Amino acid sequence: MIETKIEIKNTRVHNLKGISVDIPHNKLVVVSGLSGSGKSSLAFDTVYAEGQRRYVESLSAYIRQFLGRMNKPEVDYINGLPPAIAIEQKVISNNPRSTVGTSTEIYEYLKLLFARVGKTVSPVSGQIVQKDNIKDVIDFIMSLPLDTEIYLLSPIVLSENRTIEEHLTVMQQQGFSRVFVDNEAVRIGDFLEKKTAKNKKVKLLVDRVRNDGRKETENRLADSVQVAFFEGHGVCELIYKIAGESKSHTFSEIFEADGIIFSEPSVEMFSFNNPVGACPKCEGFGKTIGISPDLVVPDKSLSVYQDAIACWRGDSAKEWKQALIMNADKFDFPIHRPYCELSEEQIELLWKGNQYFGGINQYFDFVESQQYKIQYRVLLARYRDVTLCPECKGTRLRPEARNVKLFFGQ
Ligand SMILES: [Zn+2]
Repeated sequence: MIETKIEIKNTRVHNLKGISVDIPHNKLVVVSGLSGSGKSSLAFDTVYAEGQRRYVESLSAYIRQFLGRMNKPEVDYINGLPPAIAIEQKVISNNPRSTVGTSTEIYEYLKLLFARVGKTVSPVSGQIVQKDNIKDVIDFIMSLPLDTEIYLLSPIVLSENRTIEEHLTVMQQQGFSRVFVDNEAVRIGDFLEKKTAKNKKVKLLVDRVRNDGRKETENRLADSVQVAFFEGHGVCELIYKIAGESKSHTFSEIFEADGIIFSEPSVEMFSFNNPVGACPKCEGFGKTIGISPDLVVPDKSLSVYQDAIACWRGDSAKEWKQALIMNADKFDFPIHRPYCELSEEQIELLWKGNQYFGGINQYFDFVESQQYKIQYRVLLARYRDVTLCPECKGTRLRPEARNVKLFFGQ
């Protein structure tokens, strides 16, 4: 059964007179009342104390001996109690870098969780970024039908100023004897003699194996795959035939997707107090001095037509508003709808603009470029304030960290 509330029955802690109360889950619940009416007795000495006690009970007897005994609060029963954390007033510090997460140390566990379990998602395609290792290649080969013949290839990566002929000659000296061209293995010497073949896609043949399911083959493969990754600068390819049909599979040791190389998740990447993880724009504060949306749109009950955008009211800037109003029908923008009723996408459009009108951001870029004129400096100052960092949207972390997501139930 899914419980959706904490059910407290007949608590008599301190001066509480047998109170029964249900506290809903997933809600912000405030306990208020006169001084001495028993708010702390309910919140700290009943709910939190019982949550802590149950947590300690779940630990081993060995650990419990160091923690001291916790008495059961005077209450008939408490149901639906999740693990409890208490944040007392005294632990709140004035350090702007301190958050509920850091002062309770929960953030430490979250960093670890994301670093170990998180998967990096490419912001371009949404695909999960993966990299392969030698074992992945061997496991794949061993999963193919028994006795499949497999070519292990490396793409040819030419170093600067070296032609393919020179490169292959060096490869030959290092003991490689064949390349793979047009779906067949060709001796390097023969390939170099045939001048016509040189425009074709050539790959280095590192090994040719038959998966016979034997342990020795696996060991030999491990060496070959390592060489293939090395020669291919982190990439290798398998070509094989199944039921007469030619197939290929590429493996990459590089943590990359959509042509972007990603950093692998680490604990530091999720720490906003560490340059590795902190958002470069706000240095991990989550706030910057910038154009404040609240100053630009002071009255959100107005529509764009009614001059909701304060910086476009004056004569000098009204052409920006006009461009939007004259073209709004082309992209179906509701110029008469109050700002506060616009969708998130519509608000974003106001700031970013499109091919028909310059957005608020573009307007302020223009103002910034005119700062040598006093009136523009004054204008800029009027709309600048401490505002949510536009880069990290207050999350304090750099974009790489925000690409890492947790997937449950997999
Ligand atoms: Zn930021």
